[in-house]
Amino acid sequence: MVQIPINKNKEAMRKDPIIKRHFISFDGGVRQDASYQRPDRYSMVERISKHSPIIARGGGYSYSAASFSEKSLVVDMRCFNRILSFDPQSGIVEVEAGMTIASLLEFATPRGFWLPLLPGYPEITIGGCIGANVHGKNPYRHGTFAKRVVDINLYHPVYGIRRISPESESEIFELTCGGYGSLRLQPLAGDQTVTVQTPVQNLAEGLEVTRQASMQYEFAYSFNELSPFPKTFGRGCVIGSEVLSGSVNSGKIIPKYFPITPESRTRLPYSIWGGWRTRVIEHLYWLLETSRNKKKKENLFQFAFPFAANGKYFLFYGRKGLVEYQVIIPDENVETFLSAAEKIILDNRMEGVMGSMKLFKGRQKFLRYEMDGVCVTFNFARTERTLNSLPRLDKLVIAMGGLPNLIKDSRIPRDVVVACYPELEKTRNALRNYDPDRLFRSELSERLGL
Ligand SMILES: Cc1cc2nc3c(=O)[nH]c(=O)nc-3n(C[C@H](O)[C@H](O)[C@H](O)COP(=O)(O)OP(=O)(O)OC[C@H]3O[C@@H](n4cnc5c(N)ncnc54)[C@H](O)[C@@H]3O)c2cc1C
Repeated sequence: MVQIPINKNKEAMRKDPIIKRHFISFDGGVRQDASYQRPDRYSMVERISKHSPIIARGGGYSYSAASFSEKSLVVDMRCFNRILSFDPQSGIVEVEAGMTIASLLEFATPRGFWLPLLPGYPEITIGGCIGANVHGKNPYRHGTFAKRVVDINLYHPVYGIRRISPESESEIFELTCGGYGSLRLQPLAGDQTVTVQTPVQNLAEGLEVTRQASMQYEFAYSFNELSPFPKTFGRGCVIGSEVLSGSVNSGKIIPKYFPITPESRTRLPYSIWGGWRTRVIEHLYWLLETSRNKKKKENLFQFAFPFAANGKYFLFYGRKGLVEYQVIIPDENVETFLSAAEKIILDNRMEGVMGSMKLFKGRQKFLRYEMDGVCVTFNFARTERTLNSLPRLDKLVIAMGGLPNLIKDSRIPRDVVVACYPELEKTRNALRNYDPDRLFRSELSERLGL
């Protein structure tokens, strides 16, 4: 007789697929218990009640609570992760929305294709990329994810499945919160990248070099030290990278890595980042980076997802987590913004850790994080002092005509969103028109009164 162990949990889920689960936003700012289901066939999705709130969930890598709410059934879509069709002539691939961007890359690369617009973590799903209209490492050149989407099968419990595209139903397409559909991949010249690193001494120099690099390279962004010490504030490197023409490895391109999740990120009880510790780590990193060869070759995966190998960066924020403050500032105001933001961070001794800049190009619409300008990101340890000082940064962003990224900040107050997003009310009305009972609800959408 052969005994086969059965995973009790999975069995239980198949019989009674709704369980209670604790959810944490990736930044650690929102924690809630909610009902949870992980369907693995479409009939299960179709059986979900048409009368009580639900919210779809991908990998849960949003820093804000965009894919859970204590009042909604959280429907984890990651079992729907297949490639449905691929046309090597046009590069159009049809995928289920639960597929991760790493799996898509793993499928596409050996076939000589890829997606140049990749957010920074491999476990993020295609549904999450569409839902948040994410950007990659040079949004000035590649724009945002919606540009890659040919069409979407959008499911609503009342209407069933509707196929929508930018041409057929442009308003719903632009409002879209997910589904599955076709993406246009791009031919790939090779699967190695070459990166040139340019050291910079402060944010102003970082901005100037990032601007040049964005015109010159396929990918361009800066990373900058943010610990509140005037001498080293803003010091860092600008990364400019190209894909090298050459052979494409027909085997696996994904090295082994240990995925970090919103829950495992909180494993350390205390933050390693903060005060002199941040300064010491930043200084060691600076010495390491400036002593290295300024040109380095990497495989595409390692380049696209630096945090896959450096997940400790997020673990170091400990249980309380981090604040990712990400805004697009119009070109004409960015110098003023950077020097005023530096003053706020230094004067208030906010627990800054790392910053980054990218050039952005896009048209602002609804609540989409997209417009012409410079995308500036600040990472802080989530301490009282930081949280108490953030309203000063919010005020500055409003005065500069900036746009905060709602998917990156679980704290952002509604009045700031009202002041920065001229189409908030229009979005609210359009959503209510499409979904009058507001069946799709997350903590984020409720906080914004959508
Ligand atoms: C380390 C790290 C790096 C990141 N780098 C970047 C970056 O470079 N650029 C950038 O723009 N963002 C970046 N992000 C943010 C991330 O790309 C977005 O938050 C993205 O939405 C997360 O996708 P997800 O699969 O985890 O979806 P979730 O966070 O679970 O959900 C996000 C939204 O999509 C909806 N959704 C998800 N799946 C479906 C589906 N199947 N059907 C319908 N709706 C769905 C959810 O309801 C929710 O509204 C980063 C995040 C992390 C943690």
